[in-house]
Amino acid sequence: MLALPGEDGAIIAGGQSLLPLLNFRLAAPSCLIDIGRLDELRRIVEGDGYIEIGGLVRHCELAASAVIGEAFPLLHQAIGHIAHPGVRHRGTLGGSLAMADPAGELGACCLALEGRMSLQSVRGQRWVGAEDFFTGIYETALAGDEILTAVRLPRRGPGGIQIFKEVARRRGDFALAGLALVAGANLSNPRLALLGVADRPVLAARTMALLREDGSAMGSAVDRAVAQIGKEVDPAQDPAYPPAYRRHLVQVLLRRTLAELSP
Ligand SMILES: Cc1cc2nc3c(=O)[nH]c(=O)nc-3n(C[C@H](O)[C@H](O)[C@H](O)COP(=O)(O)OP(=O)(O)OC[C@H]3O[C@@H](n4cnc5c(N)ncnc54)[C@H](O)[C@@H]3O)c2cc1C
Repeated sequence: MLALPGEDGAIIAGGQSLLPLLNFRLAAPSCLIDIGRLDELRRIVEGDGYIEIGGLVRHCELAASAVIGEAFPLLHQAIGHIAHPGVRHRGTLGGSLAMADPAGELGACCLALEGRMSLQSVRGQRWVGAEDFFTGIYETALAGDEILTAVRLPRRGPGGIQIFKEVARRRGDFALAGLALVAGANLSNPRLALLGVADRPVLAARTMALLREDGSAMGSAVDRAVAQIGKEVDPAQDPAYPPAYRRHLVQVLLRRTLAELSP
């Protein structure tokens, strides 16, 4: 249906972002394509070295999954920050990622966890890494006729680190700033993804490099990383929350995260 010529249909999954857009007349698709009954998109599948989460898996289902909690505690931590139970009971992983809100928790988590998205259309299936999936504010690599069918997350080795933190005005509001840190034991190979401080979820590449070099979360290494992340982020102009404020928040979050890791 998405590929039908002359149609400008929109997929509706949980409707938790699309319905507000329709109500505000910010979207006016020619028809809604309800994918809610495609059960094959509602699965969490354990593969060889990875876990694949279907695009229709709801936030509450992720939060209730023991498999996810064991492999990706980061997701469990993050979901607690998404809106409130009503939204989490309808909203889906695919909808969240397709929406690509720069302050969305799940995009940053997929980035930190080296996720790959499965995009499918009548033309076939392709895989896109999270680093290439988010292309701008509310923009993704999804073509007009594609559905995000699943996200594949590689399993991590034992003893690793997964920490999610954010600051929001009220619990459940979109984040003003947040971070998702994933690393091996002793902070090896850190991946630090940020939300709310750019037009899309981003990796703090230079801070990651510094953490890798220093190889510790102690003393002056912490100060260096905190200073670096302040230089690295470039939040958008926002009269209510100016860039300097968001930059400060992300620095505070990194300091708190590293404090938790210091022996
Ligand atoms: C009050 C409130 C507070 C919220 N707070 C947060 C928050 O703190 N953090 C956060 O991350 N989100 C928040 N959300 C958004 C929520 O998480 C949504 O559930 C989510 O962004 C969209 O998921 P959905 O399944 O409801 O998608 P829908 O609303 O159904 O769709 C959203 C968009 O994605 C497209 N789409 C949906 N599924 C697919 C798919 N499988 N493939 C391709 N395109 C697809 C739709 O066409 C549409 O453009 C909030 C929403 C509300 C109403």
